Amino acid sequence: MKVHILLGPPGSGKGTQAQRLVEKFKLNHLSTGDILRDAVSKGTEIGLRAKAIMASGKLVDDDTVNGLVFARLRQGFEGDVLFDGYPRTLQQAEALGEFLSTQMIELGHVLSVAVPDGVLEARVVGRRVCSNCGAIYHVETKPPKQDGICDLCGSPLKHRSDDTAEAFRSRMAEFNATFQPLLGFYERKPNFRSVDGNLAPEQVFESLVKLFAECA
Ligand code: AMP
Repeated sequence: MKVHILLGPPGSGKGTQAQRLVEKFKLNHLSTGDILRDAVSKGTEIGLRAKAIMASGKLVDDDTVNGLVFARLRQGFEGDVLFDGYPRTLQQAEALGEFLSTQMIELGHVLSVAVPDGVLEARVVGRRVCSNCGAIYHVETKPPKQDGICDLCGSPLKHRSDDTAEAFRSRMAEFNATFQPLLGFYERKPNFRSVDGNLAPEQVFESLVKLFAECA
């Protein structure tokens, strides 16, 4: 068993790519967001603590998340694992490294979907969402046939309040403060590769598949 990591900022399309890699390479998908949501819905002690933190969009503390991940890894997996949303901080990355070496588990690929902040901002700021069915449009790259109206259900499109340039910049600044040290940690590793995320999703997926197949 190896564990693989996919890194990328919000809006990079990382979640969709992770899902597709899991299907293509028959990986076990380990999402810390899913594990935490499960703990919240079961009302466990961790779930009760994590609930408010998750609702506020902040990160759950490192020891809690590491504990959940390590407990799951100790149970073992048939085949490789792809982490989704983990590690999120430098401390998580360091603790994971130590855990893997004590358990003699190999770190596989560390792939980063790189998208310049300016591109992410344009994607987010131009995004429009159907107020009824949730279909997603973009004013420039995927406009609806009729301005402001959903092609699928005819309802009005809305601009989410957190999709403004100002809100985006403040989210990004917070994200970068945590993400840059994490990226710095993995960039030095021999199994680190970065793919250009500023391409069509299909092309990004092709690059990721190539890297996965090359050094599996
Ligand atoms: P996600 O589904 O990955 O967007 O995660 C949803 C929420 O769960 C995040 O906003 C955090 O509150 C929490 N979370 C998920 N993964 C982590 C992690 N690796 N470290 C800290 N908090 C996390």
